[in-house]
Amino acid sequence: MNSKILVTGGSSMVGSHLKLLLPDATYFTSKHVDLTSQTDVRRMIKYFQPQTVIHLAARVGGILDNIAHPAEYFYQNVMMNTILMEESRKEGVEKFIGILSTCIYPDTMPIESYPLTEEDLFSGPPTPTNFSYGYAKRCLAVQTEAYNKEYGLNYSYLTPCNLYSEHDKFVPGKAHFVADLVRKIVEAKKGDKKLTLFGSGEPLRQNMYAGDLAKVIKICIDRNITDSFNVAVSDNLSIRETAEIALRACEAEEIEILWDSSKPDGQYRKDVSNQKMLSIMPDFKFTSLEEGIKITYKKMIQND
Ligand code: NAP
Repeated sequence: MNSKILVTGGSSMVGSHLKLLLPDATYFTSKHVDLTSQTDVRRMIKYFQPQTVIHLAARVGGILDNIAHPAEYFYQNVMMNTILMEESRKEGVEKFIGILSTCIYPDTMPIESYPLTEEDLFSGPPTPTNFSYGYAKRCLAVQTEAYNKEYGLNYSYLTPCNLYSEHDKFVPGKAHFVADLVRKIVEAKKGDKKLTLFGSGEPLRQNMYAGDLAKVIKICIDRNITDSFNVAVSDNLSIRETAEIALRACEAEEIEILWDSSKPDGQYRKDVSNQKMLSIMPDFKFTSLEEGIKITYKKMIQND
């Protein structure tokens, strides 16, 4: 039986974790194929004839980059997703797992709606700062449901919360919040023992170790799970609590946190429910934030 697995975004943070769990899969990056080119994608799928496609690749970036390049975020993500799923379908790919993001959920919802469930995805527009990325990713959900309905497929998508790990980019302005926090702590330890963070520290966030998403993907493959669901930790911690945990994990409790209230807080909360996920894989154990940050920190100082 053909059990070939093709993974896009092989050089991504999540891809670096998945390689350890699914070493026999084939990993593509933009060096091998431009996923916005139908010719490239058709050639890749026709040549490789996978049974399963795991689609990690995306144009991903921080708020400032999203604000500066909304057209690129929309075009590249819509093209990559749309072409890849269509070419997969045409070549008889049996299993397709796409990746959305909880930051594409509606921006403001009534307080009683939190944590948001999978049914809330289309209940309102995404936050203005990643509006076009949000709609591009939502299109992947629409495409998945449409293809399943019309072509009788079992394609699915996972919707992870904010991610971090030792495979993040530790470049100022490019790293995700937790990895950037670790980078700033390392600098503060070497320097004036002060850590300046934006806003009030009050907003709530779910931050998950990227290796946990890779584990969930592996379980979906091993157990042939075809549901679409949120993948998020249960803890919805304030930025302040997250920073305090990070200081402990980096053995830097002597560092003083300064809050720069001239900078905006961003969305107050965007937490999603993991109930559906835990009903499908009740035995799943998340990496604690402290443990995940310890791993990230150790790797960062090794490379420093
Ligand atoms: P990442 O590290 O930013 O990597 C993005 C990947 O996409 C890279 O492998 C890149 O290849 C590839 N790529 C981009 N444009 C491409 C193109 N035109 N053709 C081929 N490949 C292309 O990604 P990540 O942060 O691990 O995220 C993985 C997935 O999880 C994404 O779908 C993202 O939307 C989703 N997600 C991420 C987060 C988060 O906090 N990071 C949260 C929720 C969901 P090159 O390296 O060769 O350029």
